[in-house]
Amino acid sequence: KLEETSPNEYQDNKFVCQRATPLKHHNTKFTDALEILERHAVYVDSTQRDSRALAFRRAACALKSYPKQITRIEEASKLSSVGNHSKKEILENGSSDEVQDILSSEFFKTMEVFSSIYGCGPATARKWYEKGYRSIADVHHAVSDGMKLTEQQTMGFKYHSDLVKPVPKEEAINIKDIVIKELSKIQPNCIVELVGGYRRGKLSGHDVDILITHQNNSKVEGLLHKLVERLEKLDLMVGRNPHFESKTLYLKSVKGIGEGSQRQGGHMDSLDHCFCMFQMGKSFENEKVEHSCMQTTGEADETGTSTGSSSSEQMAAVVRRVDLIVAPHKQFPFALLGWTGSKQFNRSLRDYAWKVLKVKLSNHGMWDHKHIPVRQVEATSEQEIFHELKLEYRDPHDRNA
Ligand code: ATP
Ligand code: MN
Ligand code: MN
Repeated sequence: KLEETSPNEYQDNKFVCQRATPLKHHNTKFTDALEILERHAVYVDSTQRDSRALAFRRAACALKSYPKQITRIEEASKLSSVGNHSKKEILENGSSDEVQDILSSEFFKTMEVFSSIYGCGPATARKWYEKGYRSIADVHHAVSDGMKLTEQQTMGFKYHSDLVKPVPKEEAINIKDIVIKELSKIQPNCIVELVGGYRRGKLSGHDVDILITHQNNSKVEGLLHKLVERLEKLDLMVGRNPHFESKTLYLKSVKGIGEGSQRQGGHMDSLDHCFCMFQMGKSFENEKVEHSCMQTTGEADETGTSTGSSSSEQMAAVVRRVDLIVAPHKQFPFALLGWTGSKQFNRSLRDYAWKVLKVKLSNHGMWDHKHIPVRQVEATSEQEIFHELKLEYRDPHDRNA
């Protein structure tokens, strides 16, 4: 599949969404280096995202979808997205002094640590760096001296050691299965998809993205709230939501998600969405308790108990970030496309749709602005969306831009 285009026919002047970008590609040593340069550029100036950082990102995207390993600089020179700075990195085999210097710099190392805190973006990280903080402990001290954190950052600090641990796909599937099981008790026949990186073939991720819909629109209204309440009652969530006085971190519910309220292709996602913190471990604890109760009321002499409890103890109570999203059925294909990503693939898709077709694409739908008055274009599947956009269909595995 990787070899379907020969390097000679390869065109990087196309939009990223017009090319297949697989997860595994041939130029990792270069793209890893370019991604460091990109992150560094964002850390230096997050308002300049559109220039330097974006140039590195475009170059990395071109290399990710290039059908073979670049061995000669002449090859890279033919790629219009690979600018001089990125070319230099390729010349130096992805291990230039510049990259080495960045990696060993106090600035970069500190910014990486701060950016690993949920709720801490590059602007906050830099603010802390400029105040002289160099470690998580430094920030903790500042907090005890009265520095304010946002709700998200507070959670980010509290569960930092858990949240930096990657979520293996098997665990993401477990969480999805719990969601399916609990949903079925609230509302039968929901459609549930594991989206985000796992749908693109990744074997681990930084969070678990779960998209939910129901064929009947009236069943969708209020569904997320009920689901979250139920998961909280089962003690599967940690955190506290200031707006809902529940334990959930953040629950956004937009009234009247139906037809009338759709802004014409706005980028802001106004689907029902809950950022939450799951704690599977606690439920395993609960199951263990139930299990041992059953055992004591049952057989008086149970020899297998020690193996049973040691396997429960292995289930560490790791806190995981989970995004729960509920979409009305009509918007589901758009939400599915949007929440599958990658972010860069979506960006390219929206860019292409607008620049080439004057179509605004969002997680809710698409709107044709060539047509006066603006006309909504419907689709019942991702395939139909690509078709309407006059694009070759891309499997989620080929959307890893
Ligand atoms: P990872 O495996 O590290 O979690 P990911 O690709 O799943 O990577 P996420 O940040 O979880 O990354 O996002 C998944 C997709 O959902 C992305 O394509 C992103 O564009 C989209 N997305 C994330 N947050 C929002 C949001 N608030 N509104 C709309 N879309 C979002
Ligand atoms: Mn994700
Ligand atoms: Mn997510």
